[in-house]
Amino acid sequence: MGVADRHAIVIGGSVGGLLAARVLTGRFARVTVLDRDELPGVPQARRGVPHGDHGHALLLGGKQQLEEFFPGLGADLVAGGAVPFDPGHDLLMHQKGALRRRFRSGAEGVSATRALLEFALRGRVAALPGLQIRDRTPVYGLTGGPDGATGVVLEDGATLAADLVVNASGRGGASADGWLRALGCEAPATDVVKVGVGYTTRLYRRLPGERLAGGGLLHLLAGADGDKRVASVFAVEGDRWMVTLGGWHQTHAPTDPAGFADFAARLPSEAVRRIVSGSEPVPDDTGRKFTFPAARRRRFERLPNPPARFVTLGDALCSFNPLYAQGMTVAARQAAALGRALDAAGGTGADMVRAYYANAAKAVEGPWQMAAAGDFSHPETTGTKPRGTRLRAWYADRVLLASHVSVPVNRALMDVQQLLVPPTAILRPGLAARALLASRRSPALRFGTNAG
Ligand SMILES: Cc1cc2nc3c(=O)[nH]c(=O)nc-3n(C[C@H](O)[C@H](O)[C@H](O)COP(=O)(O)OP(=O)(O)OC[C@H]3O[C@@H](n4cnc5c(N)ncnc54)[C@H](O)[C@@H]3O)c2cc1C
Repeated sequence: MGVADRHAIVIGGSVGGLLAARVLTGRFARVTVLDRDELPGVPQARRGVPHGDHGHALLLGGKQQLEEFFPGLGADLVAGGAVPFDPGHDLLMHQKGALRRRFRSGAEGVSATRALLEFALRGRVAALPGLQIRDRTPVYGLTGGPDGATGVVLEDGATLAADLVVNASGRGGASADGWLRALGCEAPATDVVKVGVGYTTRLYRRLPGERLAGGGLLHLLAGADGDKRVASVFAVEGDRWMVTLGGWHQTHAPTDPAGFADFAARLPSEAVRRIVSGSEPVPDDTGRKFTFPAARRRRFERLPNPPARFVTLGDALCSFNPLYAQGMTVAARQAAALGRALDAAGGTGADMVRAYYANAAKAVEGPWQMAAAGDFSHPETTGTKPRGTRLRAWYADRVLLASHVSVPVNRALMDVQQLLVPPTAILRPGLAARALLASRRSPALRFGTNAG
């Protein structure tokens, strides 16, 4: 079957679905993206993506992959008001009880709301040849049989045939397990890590050229021993500060202004306190809360006979604890893996599907293990603990302490956290020795925890 005959369907037109659509274009004559939401003509959060209202960091690894898919995307975002920043210098990371050493990295991140990023991606994808985005089109099931999918079921039982169906329907994507079973196909096992995370977000006016206390444009506070609270402040488009407060295991911030301000006032961070107490709230901003009970990883790669012509991508495949900001970057890597699997197999049968899941699992593995090491450092965390988690957490603690005083260690840690290099990069013998020595000099071992 040549490209000319082929049709691919993507369920979900959010970040994961749009990236899938990008790699399917050119490999299929027609690509149809179906989303149940009405997709707005402006950068704006929407009902099907309730997390879109909260702080989203695009990691450098993700930005790199997005630029490969859409050259110039970063510049588009900046033209739309997004704020460029140097992650070594402008992102103030207060982790494990002290501020990490700042340095000029020479890299450029871009800080924007998720709504702006999704809007920019949608604009680029909509312009691709052979591509159609159909909003207000929910998918209710799959057509096909025990060997795999042949299309999707729409409203009133109407069907749409396809040579490949990509499920990018987000965290709720597990409902596709029922669809698969209805065809007589096997559904995957799921690893779950219960983290009880809560996000509460409010917006404040940012004055022209304004920086945070301490000089940054972005700030993250997390992970002092035993403290489950987290906070982030991001300069975003529209001259706004996006402030997110919350934490693990029901350590959540209220949405009302007084409760939010009280939570902020108790944090060991002058940067957060000053914005929340001293900046003008954005009018009509009512504050929003999102709860995230558990990270979920669906193990399609372990199915001996995965359903043909059907793949799962993005949060539907692996929904990470959002505190590590990995979701969009890993979704982009999965999309790249899908492109490679299609090229290698030349078709959409079980061999292609198996190759895709094997590669997608590699993209997930390192970030999933890193997140688990952080999550299981809280004794309340329960669920599937990856092998080696305790050792990884012990070493990560040493590296974090060292990052307070050593620029080379902090640079290496930044590259790993930004998913530019695999986690094993911080195990290099020279760096490990340096980290273990430097960790003893961390001010967090001597002083309090004011983030400045
Ligand atoms: C609070 C929070 C903060 C986060 N912060 C970050 C961050 O800082 N950095 C980062 O990289 N990632 C972050 N993430 C993760 C990130 O949002 C996702 O990884 C990313 O958006 C990819 O999601 P997705 O496209 O797979 O799914 P989603 O964004 O959930 O989109 C699913 C889409 O499918 C549609 N849909 C669902 N069901 C159907 C159906 N039956 N038929 C048709 N359409 C359907 C929905 O309308 C929606 O458009 C965060 C997540 C949360 C929850």
